[in-house]
Parts: sequence; structure tokens; C-alpha cells
Amino acid sequence: MSSFRQRALDEFATHKAERFYVDERPVSEYFAENVFGEDQMKKYLSSQAYQAVTSAIKDGKKIDRTFANEIAAGMKSWAVEKGATHYTHLFHPLTDSTAEKHESFIDLSKSGEVVENFKGSALVQQEPDASSFPSGGMRSTFEARGYTAWDPSSPAFILDQTLCIPTIFVSYTGEALDMKIPLLKSLEAINKSALEVVNLFDENVNRVIVNLGLEQEYFIVDDALFRARPDLQICNRTLIGHTAAKDHQLEDHYFGAIPSRVMAFMKDFETEAYKLGIMLKTRHNEVAPNQFECAPLYCEANLAVDHNQVLMILMKKVAKKHHLKVLFHEKPFMGINGSGKHCNWSMMTDRGENLLSPGTTPGTNLQFLSVFSSVIRAVYEHNYLLMASVASLNNYYRLGGNEAPPAVMSVFVGRTLDNVINSIENMTLTDDVAASERERLDIVKAIPEILQDNTDRNRTSPFAFTGNRFEFRAVGSSVNVASSMFILNCAVAQQLSNFRKRVDKYMSDGIEKEEAVLKVVRELIIESKNIRFEGNGYSKEWHEEAARRGLKGITNVPESFKAYIDKKSMALFEETKVLTMREVAAHYEIKNEIFTKKLQIEARVMGDLIINHIIPTAIKFQNTLIDNAKGIKELFPAEDAERMCEKQLKTIAKISKYIYELREDVHGMIEARKEANIIEDFTEKAAVYSETVLPYMEKIRINADKLEMIVDDELWPLPKYRELLFCR
Ligand code: ADP
Ligand code: MG
Repeated sequence: MSSFRQRALDEFATHKAERFYVDERPVSEYFAENVFGEDQMKKYLSSQAYQAVTSAIKDGKKIDRTFANEIAAGMKSWAVEKGATHYTHLFHPLTDSTAEKHESFIDLSKSGEVVENFKGSALVQQEPDASSFPSGGMRSTFEARGYTAWDPSSPAFILDQTLCIPTIFVSYTGEALDMKIPLLKSLEAINKSALEVVNLFDENVNRVIVNLGLEQEYFIVDDALFRARPDLQICNRTLIGHTAAKDHQLEDHYFGAIPSRVMAFMKDFETEAYKLGIMLKTRHNEVAPNQFECAPLYCEANLAVDHNQVLMILMKKVAKKHHLKVLFHEKPFMGINGSGKHCNWSMMTDRGENLLSPGTTPGTNLQFLSVFSSVIRAVYEHNYLLMASVASLNNYYRLGGNEAPPAVMSVFVGRTLDNVINSIENMTLTDDVAASERERLDIVKAIPEILQDNTDRNRTSPFAFTGNRFEFRAVGSSVNVASSMFILNCAVAQQLSNFRKRVDKYMSDGIEKEEAVLKVVRELIIESKNIRFEGNGYSKEWHEEAARRGLKGITNVPESFKAYIDKKSMALFEETKVLTMREVAAHYEIKNEIFTKKLQIEARVMGDLIINHIIPTAIKFQNTLIDNAKGIKELFPAEDAERMCEKQLKTIAKISKYIYELREDVHGMIEARKEANIIEDFTEKAAVYSETVLPYMEKIRINADKLEMIVDDELWPLPKYRELLFCR
């Protein structure tokens, strides 16, 4: 066998299931022990400083700078006692990753001794050289200054002996260069608008927060096999590779017994996650072989996003110990299920009431219906923007497949609520007598208690109501979900404000509150009817129907990015004050830029694989066939030899044909890149890459995979799908 692949398989065979982070204590004893949480703050801070931080967390108040030194000193004492030597501001640049620049605590005292020091100013703000982060034109490299500033609503924690401080990242001129700022602003927008609606029903509610539960799907690959594949190493996905004879046809992986090596890895990262206060609740095998999922208990959205980002870092670190690689890529393997990050989204009041919980009392029903119909209306209004927010090169390979959410938006609500909505719609609402309005209200009041555990689940819907929350399933597994969540929040905030305005208008016309609310709920239901779909989202009929309803799906990724800069979206961002026009333009530019660069990298790796790995291997194999045919011709009479070699010669010719086409296409792809690379305008460049480079990649893959089926297994240089997916 090709020595490269053989060595990888030999190394794989030595990898055993083993635990590295065993902690015998009950989880409750060490949960969040590496987080500077409430207990730690009480111990290390004065009561005023403690108050300042907690009210910043609970009420979103700014921390008085006079406390900064004390808070920093307290944090440092705690961190140093726990073995930390460094601190870092951890932020989320516009690249879907996290960024960190470490500084050590050590300093010189006045008398020249080495001491640990951490000043308030260093806690509150830092100035990393920001020139290498994408800014979408908001900051030229000569004025590279960017600031990171502490976000006290997400607590500091220790990872790898480093005190990590969750922060926002702004440019010198005050523009957001990260995902956290728009997320935080959108959460504030939701709070404001949701209160306008909720206070119609309950004056005592003062704050509304968003809760998020993020289900994280991922693949596991042995690291020796991973290293033997340049495509996995550089692109996190296989660019070529024939499907294995078996993948998920038998549906025997989903919820199956977790392989022991993977289980050891899971237990280890769970232990470490618990110490960081991440409440992991579920773990299971996913649909595809070697695909898994974990999910923490939901929590406040900003914290949930930070936890998810840290969890991904942690999983990668822990996997190393186990000689495993975690693939967060949306589609690492062609022909089988890709990975997403299901975002379970809901809103909750400061009184602990879930606004998406249908509840049991009529009054609550009306409040629930107001919020519920506003969310659906919001998703309808900005359906294409929401899909554009999940669009990326990676997700392009995943969405629309038969195991992934469709690339066109729809909302599934389940049979019970569908009936409720339809019955509200069908009340022939007229503006005449109030008495009949009262009767209609009684119908709403008589709606049976809507069961929390809404059992009819529809896995084919990108946006599904699941009993007390919505689940947005189209979001990719590798991304920072803030990028879609802030858009969802904006859209909902806008609708909730509109809701209140409409109700106020009716009330100022003399209509009673409850009737006014019902009228608006009904209007929203009717207006957003087109987004609701209870059937099979994978079916051809739905795609035709969606087109009839004017719902656009994502077919061309750069094209979909234009949704960011259309009038309606710009107005949304402006109205909710979540992004300035310059920031929107930057998001738009960066999305295009990342698309182009990723595709460029993939195309380069593809060229290398074909020219330097696949074609030489195919030639080697072809030569053995040629030698063999020649030998037969020497040994046998011409007529016999011709018959015996007939198929052989065909295979030799076939290999030549594939090699020829591969060379042609790699050459064509390089030329296409060259032409695209000289285009200055980033939008056009992304579009040209998508239209010219992408099709070459698809065509090249087909021929390479055909060769894999012909060439001697001994010679094939790359670990195959059956090895990547079934070696555990
Ligand atoms: P499934 O895969 O069946 O959808 P999981 O148990 O894997 O469910 O994940 C469900 C996620 O939804 C968990 O993170 C859970 O905490 C979260 N969740 C439950 N209720 C809510 C809610 N009201 N708001 C937000 N997230 C929620
Ligand atoms: Mg789910």
C-alpha cells in the first residue's frame, strides 16, 4: 500500500480509548470552578465592587471605572491562586473564530522585584494591533488601532493557565469589528420592543432576555488519517473521495452506542467544560458515521454564544490528547449528512416567564399569541436575509441536501398550533359590533391548553416551533451563531415594535385592548401565511410551491449576500440601531471576501491533490496494466492475447481519458482563478469565483472519484472514506 496511507493506518491502529481528564468528584462539586462567578466575586471583591459587577450583568448597567482596579486585583488574585500566569481579552472578530493575545501578569514592583500585577485599565480595555483582522474597509492598516473592552455580562474564566476575559472589539473610530457588539445591541433591541408588547399584559415586567440552547454537531476523525489528507488538513473537508459502500443507509449510527474512543473523548471534554460552567446535557451519535452531537442546557444568548465558542476551542484541544480531530465543517464528506448548529431560541421575562410557552390561562394565551405571531411575521419579512446570514461556502455544500435543512426558509409550527392559527384566521373578523368581537375572543380563550411537549417534530423545516421555543436549524456547525442570531433578534424586535404600534392605533380608535390585540394577531397570521409550511421540506412539491409563494432559496451564495445591503435590510439595521450603514457594508464585504478566499484555498489544494497525488498514482497503476498486457502478448498467440487483454486495454484507455480530463480541468480552473483574481471589486470577484471556479471543482471531483474506483487499493495515497468514517 502507498507508504503514506499505510503509515497513517498503522499509526491509527496504535490509538486506544483512554481518559486524560478524570475527576472523581461529583460534577456539582467542581462545576464552574474555573469561572470568576458569583461566589468567587463575593470572596475576592468588596461589596460595592461586587454590586457593580452584578448589576452590570443583571440589568445591563455600565461598571463605574473607579471599581476597575479593585475588580482586576480580585480577579488576578483568584486566577493566580488557580495557577494562571497570563490573561487575555478573548474576542470574536468577523471571521467566525475567536482571537486572543496573551499578556503575562508579571511586572516589576517599585523596588525592582518581580510581582504579579493586573491593572483595572488592562481589564477594562486593551489595544491589540488590529491590522490583521478583517474590517471590511472600516479601518485601513495604517490606522490599525482597535480596542477590546470587557463585557462583564459574560464572566471571565481560566483556560490553559490563562485568565480569559470575554470582550468586544471596536475600531479606533468606534465601529464594531466583531460579532459580539451587534449581538449585544440586538439583545437590547429585543428587550426594548418585547417590553412594549409584554407590558400590555403585565406592567411588572422590566426586562426581557433571549435564551439560546445550541446543539453542536461535529465529525470525529483519527488524527493520523487526518494528517494523511491535505484537503482535511487545510480545508477541514474532503475535496475528493468516493463514498463508502455503507454510510447511513441502515440508519444504524443515529443514537447508536457511542464508540469507546469517542466516549472517552466526550467524557474528557465534558469534564473540562463543566469546570468552565458549560452545562453540557446531551451527547449522542448523529446520523452519519463518525458524526456526533452535544448540547448544553440553554442559557442567556450572549453567554450561550461565548460558551459555544469556548466549547469548540476546548473540544479541539482535548481531541488532540485522544489522537482525534474534531471537524466542525458543515460538509466534511460528500454524500452523507453535514453538520449544523441548531439554535433553540426563546425569550424570557425577568419574572422567569418563557414568552414562547403557550401556557394554560387565556390571558397568557393572548400574550403568547402576540409574541408567537410576531416571530413568524418577522421570519417571513426577512426570510431571505435570514437564509443569507447562514449562507457561506461551507454551508453551500450542506444546505438543500436530503439530510439538511432546505435552502429556502419556512416555518413549521406543529399540528396543534397550526389549528389554533387557522381558527384565528378563519374568524370572519369584521369591524362592526364589539359584541361579536367578544365572542371571538372567547374562542381564543377557549383554545385548549397547548401542550408544552409538542411531539410532532418536523426535521425538514429550517425554522421549527418545538413546544416552547423556535429552532433555527440552517445555521452552520463551524460558525459563530451570533452572525445569524443578531439578525433574527433584529427582525423580531422590529415586529414586536410594530405590533405595539398597531395595537395602540386600534386602541386610540376606541377598541378595547384584548380585541385590538386579537385583531393584530390575526393580521400578522394572515400576512405571514406564505412562510408557514407543515409538510416535507425536502420534497420537490415544496420547492415548486415555495417558488409560487415568492420565497427565494439560496442557490448562489455571493448573490444571496446582497440581501444584507438591500433597502429593507438596511432599514432594519438602522431602525433597531444594531448596525450602522458602514458596518453593514463591512459585513457584506467580509462575507464575500471569506467566500472567495476559502474557495481559492480549496481550489489550490484540489490542484495539488490532482497533479501531485492522483495523476501520478493513476499513471503508476496504468503502467502495471500496460506491462501486464505486454506480458500477455509475449506469452500467448496474438488472437488469444487480444481477447484476453480487451478489457484491460479499455481500462488503460479509460485511465488516460480521466487523466486527460483532470489535467484539462485543473488547468482550466487555474486560468479561471487567474482571471478572477485580477477583479478589484470584491462582490464581482466572489460572483466570478462562484460561477467559474466552483463548477471546475465539482467536475474534477467526479473524475478523481472514478479513478479511485479503478486504481489498485494498494497504490491509492489518501485514506478512503471507509477508513476515515469507520476507523474509530
Ligand atoms: P433535540 O435534538 O431533540 O432538538 P436537544 O436536547 O439535543 O434536543 O437540544 C435541545 C436544546 O434546546 C437544549 O440546548 C435545550 O436546553 C434547549 N432548550 C430547551 N428549552 C429551551 C427554551 N425555552 N429556550 C431555548 N432553548 C431551549
Ligand atoms: Mg433540536
